Amino acid sequence: MADAIVVEGLIKRYGDVTALDGIDLTVPAGTVTALLGPNGAGKTTAVRVLTTLLVPDGGTATVDGLDVVGDARALRSRIGASGQYAAVDEYLTGFENLEMVGRLYHLGTRRSRERARELLAQFDLVEAGDRPVKGYSGGMRRRLDLAGALVAQPPVLFLDEPTTGLDPRARLGLWDVIDDLVARGTTLLLTTQYMDEAERLADRIAVIDRGVVIARGTADALKDLVGGERIELGLVDQSRLPDLRTELEPLAAGEIQVESGIRKVVVPVSGGADTLAAALARLSAAGIRVTDVALRKPTLDDVFLSLTGHEAQESDVEAAR
Ligand code: ATP
Repeated sequence: MADAIVVEGLIKRYGDVTALDGIDLTVPAGTVTALLGPNGAGKTTAVRVLTTLLVPDGGTATVDGLDVVGDARALRSRIGASGQYAAVDEYLTGFENLEMVGRLYHLGTRRSRERARELLAQFDLVEAGDRPVKGYSGGMRRRLDLAGALVAQPPVLFLDEPTTGLDPRARLGLWDVIDDLVARGTTLLLTTQYMDEAERLADRIAVIDRGVVIARGTADALKDLVGGERIELGLVDQSRLPDLRTELEPLAAGEIQVESGIRKVVVPVSGGADTLAAALARLSAAGIRVTDVALRKPTLDDVFLSLTGHEAQESDVEAAR
C-alpha cells in the first residue's frame, strides 16, 4: 500500500517556541491516523504544515506524493482540511460558503450547488443554510467548517479536532460521516484530545507531546504498552481480605492492591474473562462475597498518563481561551 502522508524530521518554531521538534509520521493510503495529544502538543501546527498553510523550519513532508513546500500549489487541490483556522465568510450564507468552496475546487456551478445542498443535509444545516453565517451558533459553524472540507471529496483529508465543540449527537453524526468517507477510500489524518475518538476512528494512533511523537501504534498496541488488565472488586466483609488474597494470589499477574477508603481491591491479571471467571469461582467456593466486580482494561488515558507522566487534558483552561 502506498503512503499518502510521509513526514520526516519535521520542525516548526514560532520565535523561541519549538512547536514541532522533529516529527516522523507515515500514513498509508486509505487509512485513518489520529494525532493524539493535549493542548499545545503541536497538533494544529502539524496539520497547518501538512496543508501548506505554514512553511516548516526543517524536515520534509509529502502528501499524496507532493512536497508540502515545493508542490504546495498543486497539493492544495488534492486535500481537504477543516479546523480552527478554516475560512468561512460571515456575510455569506452557509449554502453560499459551500458553493464558493466548490468553485475554488473547480467543481463547476451545477455540481458545486448540488454538493452544497448534499452537505447541508448531511450536517443538519438545511434550515440554516440560507441564512448568513454571522448568526450561526458555535456548533453550526463547526459543522459548516467540516462540510467545507468535504466539498471536493479529496483523496486526503485533514480534520483538526473535528468534534471539539459539537454536542454528543453531532459528534456521533460526524463519526458516521467519517466512516463513510473512509469506506470510500479517503485517507484521513485527524487530531484529537479524546481517547475514545482516536480509538473509535483511527487505524493507528500517534501520541504527540511537546512537538514529538512519543508513541505510535494501534489502540490495542498502545494499551499493551502500559501493561495488562485488572480485576476490580469490592468486598462485603472487609475482614475476609486476607482470605481473598490467599484465593486470588495464584491468579494474579502482580501485587494485589487495596485502594484505601473505598473498599476496592485491584488484582492485576492476564487472561481476560477466563481469569475473571476463575477468580469468581474461587471466591464463591471460599464463601467470600463481593459487592461488585469488573474486568478493567487500560484506557488510552492510562496510556497517556504512563507515557507522559501527566494527564492528556491537563491544560483545558488553555483550551477555553
Ligand atoms: P491545541 O489543541 O491547543 O490547538 P495543539 O496540539 O494543536 O494544541 P499547537 O497549536 O500546534 O498545539 O501549538 C504548539 C505550540 O506552539 C504551543 O506551545 C503553542 O503555544 C505554540 N504556538 C502555536 N501557534 C503559535 C503562534 N502563532 N505563535 C507563537 N506560538 C504558537
